[in-house]
Amino acid sequence: MTSTTHVSNRLDFLKDEIQRLKDEHLYQSLKPFEGMQGAEIRMNGREILNFSSNNYLGLTNHPKLMEASKKAIDEYGVGAGAVRTIIGTMSIHEELEAKLAQFKQCEATLVLQSGFTANMAAIPPIVGEGDVIISDELNHASIIDAVRLSRGAAKDIFPHSNMDALASVLKKHKGARRKLIVTDGVFSMDGDIAKLPEIVALAEKHNAIVMVDDAHGSGVLGAHGRGTVDHFDLHGRVDIVVGTMSKALGTMGGYVASTQAMREIMVNKARPLLFSTPHPPSVVASCIAAVELLESDDTLIKQLWYNTRYFKAGMKSIGLPIESETPLCPVIVGTSEKAQKLSERLFEEGIYGRAIVYPTVAADKARVRIIINANHTQVHLDRCIEAFEKIGRELDLLQR
Ligand SMILES: *Cc1c(COP(=O)(O)O)cnc(C)c1O
Repeated sequence: MTSTTHVSNRLDFLKDEIQRLKDEHLYQSLKPFEGMQGAEIRMNGREILNFSSNNYLGLTNHPKLMEASKKAIDEYGVGAGAVRTIIGTMSIHEELEAKLAQFKQCEATLVLQSGFTANMAAIPPIVGEGDVIISDELNHASIIDAVRLSRGAAKDIFPHSNMDALASVLKKHKGARRKLIVTDGVFSMDGDIAKLPEIVALAEKHNAIVMVDDAHGSGVLGAHGRGTVDHFDLHGRVDIVVGTMSKALGTMGGYVASTQAMREIMVNKARPLLFSTPHPPSVVASCIAAVELLESDDTLIKQLWYNTRYFKAGMKSIGLPIESETPLCPVIVGTSEKAQKLSERLFEEGIYGRAIVYPTVAADKARVRIIINANHTQVHLDRCIEAFEKIGRELDLLQR
């Protein structure tokens, strides 16, 4: 087959913006790797240790999940064929939803294509004129966009995890028809956990709905990875939980765990469900296998937390203490230039740690975000800490 490339010069104006991003050290490029997602990856034929993956439990290539996907292809084929409300709801979709409801100990769940679309599905249908959405300033981009899409509702942003501020925002809106507090369960750039007991107490006092986006908490926190709500033993006191299966669960997909009525409203009103086709059966099957694995065995979660404690102790001993409560470890260095430099030097030393810069984080809080996984060995962790010590000295990052 011959191939032809056609180029439109009407898009050349984009090149100026690309140059600006490069000049400001904000430019990102994609770095493909060969083979499977794991602790050791190959890039351009070179072995690299992967310290940036959300594959917390190493499930992306777990034999049970892979087997489940292969089996589902033979049984159900490779596509759902239509959006869920037309003829795209296969029995296996509802099997996963029942399994997730049991796992999250709630009445009903609805699965969406991703965590991103789960937020789009959950927020806009339940608020409108006269309501207010109250959102932590460090909430994930998908919450921010879902709030933007919630026509009619007012929004109020409170400073990160500041409970006094949340209390006064709630008071300020006491005349609102309904109040919806939305927070990340584990904040995706800092790795700190939402102050959920206090948020829930304030919500109960002010009669507000609480929604937690637990993308980085699912499979990581709580018994068997049930998440942040379980970690704080707040079952029944958080109204809506969004989770993802794209991170610790190793596959792909988001879900909203709540009540039967919430599920029904989303089936009728959530645009990502009404206008976009659901997962193919192979993905659904691997999600079911992942949940079953979590329910039956928590050794991977224990290993994840063991690795996390080991890594943080090592980083502290070299003078780079990590301020986070989870396996998500930000190494905050300041300018985006410095963060990019640190990331590049780590790469030269065989460590993949992605720089995170503005606008994902504040311009003066650029960082390399290290994520500890259960499949890191002690040798991997030691090599990462040694690389940080060496480069930390070069770039004058170590605290003495
Ligand atoms: C990663 C993330 C998402 C998006 O999840 P996907 O399944 O990757 O779309 C949503 N919310 C938060 C807090 C996240 O960290």
